[in-house]
Amino acid sequence: MNPITVSLDQLRKYNVAGPRYTSYPPANHFTQTPEIEMAEDGPLSLYFHLPFCSTQCLYCGCTNIVTGDQSRSAEYLGYLEREMKLRATYIAPESETVQIQLGGGTPTFLLPEEIEQLGGMIRSYFPMGKTIEAGVEVDPRCLTAEKVQALRNAGFNRASLGVQDTDPVVQKTIARIQTLEKVGEANQALRESGMESINFDLIYGLPGQTIESFSQTIDDVLTLSPDRFAVYSYAHIPWIKPFQKSFEDQLPDVEIKLQLLQLAIEKLTEAGYVYIGMDHFSKPDDAMAKALNNGTLQRNFQGYSTLKGVELHGMGMSSISHFGGRYHQNHKELDAYYAALRNNELPLLRGYTMTGEDKIRYAAIMHIMCNLYIDYAQLSAEIGVDFAEYFKTDIASLNDLEADGLLHREPGGLRVTPLGRLFVRIIAMRFDSYLQNEQSKGRYSQTV
Ligand code: SF4
Repeated sequence: MNPITVSLDQLRKYNVAGPRYTSYPPANHFTQTPEIEMAEDGPLSLYFHLPFCSTQCLYCGCTNIVTGDQSRSAEYLGYLEREMKLRATYIAPESETVQIQLGGGTPTFLLPEEIEQLGGMIRSYFPMGKTIEAGVEVDPRCLTAEKVQALRNAGFNRASLGVQDTDPVVQKTIARIQTLEKVGEANQALRESGMESINFDLIYGLPGQTIESFSQTIDDVLTLSPDRFAVYSYAHIPWIKPFQKSFEDQLPDVEIKLQLLQLAIEKLTEAGYVYIGMDHFSKPDDAMAKALNNGTLQRNFQGYSTLKGVELHGMGMSSISHFGGRYHQNHKELDAYYAALRNNELPLLRGYTMTGEDKIRYAAIMHIMCNLYIDYAQLSAEIGVDFAEYFKTDIASLNDLEADGLLHREPGGLRVTPLGRLFVRIIAMRFDSYLQNEQSKGRYSQTV
């Protein structure tokens, strides 16, 4: 694939607030009392949220709990098992788990024996498929040889390393110090253990980042040749995370931030990575690039996933499930999460039942975000309405985006261009009926 070049004018023009479309409608619409029903047979994706971290990184926006008390993870696993036991009663026995993901917080906060215990619990409560993509978020600072072995023993075959930035000044400001050597050791240990795919997370827009420093960060991480990169925009939300105020005066301005993104896209595509869309890049032979080509890419709460048509069951504090046309979110506070489970109840906080129109629009948005192409006849058959007729007004609204080279409208379909991948949320937003309410736009992050 050719390197992607993007002008700053285009980045400026399309840098507006918009949903990330990990769900449709976005999670701020999950305001109903959750109702849960038996899931149908089918492939399952299981997500487990492990909230504990040893220290607080100052850029972090995750739902986490900082503690020096290692014993808290054992207590949490006890509650997680209660939840698995309850949740398993809603899963048809003929289902098969095809995907497992541990996120956090810091999953590698767990002791090696706890990692193996968790793997055993998952296998004992849920029906396992023959081939499972099992991924884990890894903090290189607390990864040991024993934990790597425990992850492999528990069946994990994919790892995502939090790297963010390699510059010592930036690392000091965000209170996350990890040398490139440390990242290299973690990468090597995971690779040698047999992990099939390794992702690095980077963040642009961090305090103290400059074009030169971030360019060096990208050069540094490219020497370790991960299979994938996720390059996220730093989200400044001091009203939710007050510790972010500590470096407010050191944040790069919008112009620099856009240049950092431009730099990342150009350097990574020049180095041979395929730009998947939004924040993700992968080597051409990685499962993610193959899923993009095969039309099996999917978007869920962890970003892009390589498996389509799976029912997502999220467990652990704050996690979100999506199956049977419904979304459910767990309690975001640990006390409320534990209290519900002590009462032998699923720890559900809120939910949403998709309407018929939601399902149609969800399908259209997922096709744009994941396949980068809509074949009108194929999608019409999938959703049971005449796509071109149903979305007549939405399709007609795309003139400006087509003129800017973000997409092509063909007689039987709509194709996102390589440039349009960068702005794919902007295209998807034209098919989002909730955005008719202009006031809701302010609640979303910038699209680039
Ligand atoms: S970035 Fe990761 S390790 Fe750091 S505080 Fe947030 S969840 Fe914990």
